[in-house]
Amino acid sequence: MIDPILGAVPDPMLYIGADGLVRHANGAARAMLGDWILGRSHDAVLRQPGVLARIEAVQNGADAAEALFERSEHAGPVEYKVRITAIATPLGRALLLHFTDITHLREAEEMRRDFVANVSHELRTPLTAVLGFLETLRGSARDDPAAQDRFLGIMEDEANRMNRLVGDLLSLSRVEAEARVRPNDRVDMADLARAGIAALRPRAEKTGHTLAVELDDSAAAGTDIQGDRDQLLQVILNLTENAMTYGGPDKPVTLRLSRGESRGMLRGPVVQLDVIDRGQGIDSLHLPRLTERFYRVDTHRSREMGGTGLGLAIVKHIVNRHRGRLKITSETGQGSTFSVILPAA
Ligand code: ADP
Repeated sequence: MIDPILGAVPDPMLYIGADGLVRHANGAARAMLGDWILGRSHDAVLRQPGVLARIEAVQNGADAAEALFERSEHAGPVEYKVRITAIATPLGRALLLHFTDITHLREAEEMRRDFVANVSHELRTPLTAVLGFLETLRGSARDDPAAQDRFLGIMEDEANRMNRLVGDLLSLSRVEAEARVRPNDRVDMADLARAGIAALRPRAEKTGHTLAVELDDSAAAGTDIQGDRDQLLQVILNLTENAMTYGGPDKPVTLRLSRGESRGMLRGPVVQLDVIDRGQGIDSLHLPRLTERFYRVDTHRSREMGGTGLGLAIVKHIVNRHRGRLKITSETGQGSTFSVILPAA
């Protein structure tokens, strides 16, 4: 009777008899621990002091207990929560052990902790600078108008940096909140690329960048997609601003549009936007991590240029929401191409 019931549960389950031996194990438990466990003593099977101590407590009278059970499996370390429940039998107290895989919960918790630590660190740096200069303005610079002017300028820069960081954090959480909502504006990516460039022109004139939109012959078939206009504009702005920032001054930045057929994950007609710069490029070592929040190749340079380290994370989330793909190719010394590939409308 016990076997079919335990067999119906997808999580690993063990039944330990009043004699302390493993009397039943469902398929998931045997897959986890091996077939050899049946009839063996539970302490030989589980062998982790934390779990064994909780088992002993239930054997000695506690109704139920919980413990953590860790294993290293193929895919890496796996953490289970084990719930131990007593069952009264004519022979004495038997135990039912239910294992729940909590690895994902742990990972999510860890990510949240890292994120909060990163944000706090990113905010603290400019905040410390502002507080430091305030003190100087009240103290040694009290009667020095030239110094006051300079310090106020720095404080303004730092306050702007905090403002950008908070703005990017809000964008990121908005995009995440809408991740499962299907966007439904009809957007012409070529038009949007031109609009993006028009918005960046004043900055480009100051830095000597030439910005251009280029249409491949294939784009004649149309560059419309179904999407969220504001978010897609943000993708174009973030990528183009990065191309200007990291491409170096006086270098051209090209936004190239093409249309194609994808045989990969997207399957079907796609519109591709390539943002191409002629900068230093990115070592391939960094490419897989570039879209992580706060990941930067050169933290000092990014900060100096006013970067928040969130631009590409935002891009990645928006592209995912559009069921698209972000592809980064780069050759050191030649430049980088950030490609956004979206299903065509
Ligand atoms: P940031 O605010 O630092 O620019 P992003 O998320 O936009 O943050 O980019 C992350 C990092 O990726 C940057 O710090 C930079 O090191 C690198 N990066 C982004 N775009 C380019 C590019 N076009 N060329 C070279 N490096 C780039």
